Order: sequence, then structure tokens, then C-alpha cells
Amino acid sequence: MTDEARPETTLHFRHALLPGGWAGQVRIGIADGRIVTLAEGVEAEADDARHAVGLPGMPNLHSHAFQRGMAGLAEVRGPGGDSFWTWRDIMYRFVDRIDPDGLRAIAALAYVEMLESGFTRVGEFHYLHRAPGGDAYADPAEMTRAIVAAAADTGIALTHLPVFYAHAGFGGTPPNPGQRRFVHDLDGFARLLDAARAAAADLPDAIVGVAPHSLRAVTEDELGALAGLAGGSPIHIHIAEQVKEVEDCLAWSGQRPVEWLLGHAAVDPRWCLVHATHMTEAETRALAASGAVAGLCPVTEANLGDGLFPAEAFLAAGGRFGVGSDSNVLIDMSEELRWFEYGQRLFARGRNILAPGAGRSTGQALFDGALTGGAQALGVAAGLAVGHAADMVSLDIRHPSLGGRSGAALIDSFLFAAGRGAIDCVWRRGAEVVRGGRHVARDRIAADYRRALEPLVA
Ligand code: ZN
Repeated sequence: MTDEARPETTLHFRHALLPGGWAGQVRIGIADGRIVTLAEGVEAEADDARHAVGLPGMPNLHSHAFQRGMAGLAEVRGPGGDSFWTWRDIMYRFVDRIDPDGLRAIAALAYVEMLESGFTRVGEFHYLHRAPGGDAYADPAEMTRAIVAAAADTGIALTHLPVFYAHAGFGGTPPNPGQRRFVHDLDGFARLLDAARAAAADLPDAIVGVAPHSLRAVTEDELGALAGLAGGSPIHIHIAEQVKEVEDCLAWSGQRPVEWLLGHAAVDPRWCLVHATHMTEAETRALAASGAVAGLCPVTEANLGDGLFPAEAFLAAGGRFGVGSDSNVLIDMSEELRWFEYGQRLFARGRNILAPGAGRSTGQALFDGALTGGAQALGVAAGLAVGHAADMVSLDIRHPSLGGRSGAALIDSFLFAAGRGAIDCVWRRGAEVVRGGRHVARDRIAADYRRALEPLVA
């Protein structure tokens, strides 16, 4: 062992999920936020912090942090039929009141809850750029700085995805008043991107990607320019979430959204197509073949009544997926994975739909798939391995649902029976940010959140 690889702290797990599968008696040494040593089948040493079950932290590939502040406020039936679009009207009214301090306070609580549920990195799909009323802030990255501050305060790793939003509908129609805080032209967006990269420069492990909001909000030329601005970094886009969006895209172009995107942009493993709910079989196979990640948000998709992703066909074609908490109406990693499977069971009237074959665990397939795909989508390496950030989760083996379990049965029991109540500690860069299921700064951040929310919901 070289001097620079000497661990500052060492953790010992009775069971740990490593990239090659479950291992027993695992010692992990950490220095400067990264895993520097990892050994299997070894006893704990005197100074080791001992834990029962270790998992890699899960990436949350899609979040709009500010929407945490309106969670539960869109559940009253309106005069007509309620839909995604009536929800969006409520969201636009909420959005108009948030200032940088409010955003920081709301995002911090959302990130605390993500960490407490086992998410250790967030893909923040960030479109709230301008001041209330639509004027530009003096610093184009003013709102980005609020997100970076919330990430720094809570410890969560950040893949920041500044959103380009220029149009209200397909074919370059002008933005509507509810969208005035989101909009840029390409030059303005390039300046925002530079400022966002500078704002995130001191945040450990931060990545800045690019997010064309949706095919509604960008033209073909703009999409090409944005892919160029991204370089090798992640490119995220909302797509085919709503049937109306598919119909509008067909009316505009004669093609469906995923079909159009795959035919007009060089979609590759840098890309994450968020939702991709409404696809034909041909689109499903083509998306899988592109190597891009499908960004699934089962809790939000259920809350908004979006529809069900064609998961069986997509996975059979080798498609990659990850999960995101999107609207943050409820932030819970295990619930996202559980509902990904449960939606498919309700639709297919069967069980263990997403397990890869006979004798294979559904929970393990969900966890492994979302870990690998989520990491790809957020531009980082997945799993507990030497050289990777020490982002880890431990489960409380004393939880009644986990007793006597090992291997995949631990994940199945965690995801389907225990849920987030089984999470004990969470480490980010080796620092214990969650202990006994609670974030170490939860009380302060929750008090801040309550203060910030008062004027917003009055
Ligand atoms: Zn979204």
C-alpha cells in the first residue's frame, strides 16, 4: 500500500453489495472521500466502524427540487378533468413566488430526504433561471448557486442540468407568461452554462450537463447546438410523458417524440430520455439500442397520471434505466423501485415481471439496473470499488423485515417489505451524513424550510 492510499477511516460490513455481487466480511478504507482499499472475507479490526449491510448509494437521475415545496398541494379535484396540464398550471403559480433563498431552503430539505432514503447523487433538472416577473438576475447562475449551496449544505453529490427552454410548443411557438422565468436564447444559455460550471467548480464531484427541456421547448437547430455545448457531459430531455405531447408531435412532424428524437439527434450513452412513457415497440427497441438511459420516475408518473413505461420489452431489448424523484411529491428510493415493478404487475396481472429469469430476484434486478443506469445518466462510475467516491448506505439488520436475510433476499425484503425505515447510515465521500435514518442537519434544514414556505403557500 502506498502512503497516498492509506485509509483515513475504515468501515466493516458483514454483507456488502459489490460490483461483482454480494460479498461477506467486507472492509472498505476511505481517504479524501474515495474508496482506497477494499477487501472481502476479512475480519473487522479494532478501529473499524462496524455495520451489518452495505449498499452503494443510488443515483436519483431526475429532480426538480423546488417542486418539493408544493408536494400535496395539487390533490384537490378541479372543475374539469384534472391532468398533468392542470397540475402544471398550479406549479407555474407556485414557481412565480420562489426567490434564490427560498429555492435554497426547499432544495436543502429535498436533498436531506433523498439522502435519508438512500439517494447519494441528484440529477437536478434546473429550469428556474430568472427572477419572478422574468427579468434576468445580474448573475445568470444566481438560482444555480442556490442549488449548489443546498447540495454543499446537505452533502449530496450534484449533477447539475441547466435547462434550455425557448418555446411553448412544437415548431418554435413563443413561450407563454407562465414560462417567463425559464427562457433563454442560445447565446444567453451559453453564458448561463459557463456561469453554472463556475458556480459548481468548488463542489466536490460536481458535474454540469445540459438539458433541452423537451421537444416542445426547443427547435431542431437549437437541439443540435445544445448537444455541441454538452461536450462529453450528460444530456437530459423530457420526452413522451403525455399522450397529448405525442399527438402534438405527430401533428407537427408526422412522427412520434421518441421516433423524431432518434431520427434527428445523435442519441448515444450520454443521453437520458426522461419518462419515454409512450413508445411503440419499434421506438422501444430503438431507444434500447441507442445505449441512452430511460429516466423513469414511477411515483411522479403515477401522481401525474402519465401512463406506464413499456418496461418488459425495453429490458428484453437490453435497455438501460434509472429512477428519479422528479416532482418530489414523495422522496423515497425504495418506493420508486417498488412502484416501477408494481406498475408492471398491475398492468400485466403477473408477478416478478422485471426479474431477468427464473430463480432471479426482482429486487436485485431493480437495484442493480437503477444503479448502473442512474450512474451512466449522471456521468459517474457506479458501485463500491477502489477509486470511486465513498457513497454508501447501510441497512439496519435489526429491522423486523430483514431478520435472517442475506444476499438478494436482503434487497427484496428492503424494497418490498421494509422500505426506507430500514436505512441506518448514509455516507457521502466517506462522511456520515445520515445516522439512525436521520440526516445530521435535518432539524436546522427543516426549520429553514418551514420559514421559507410560509410566504409561498399563504
Ligand atoms: Zn421532470
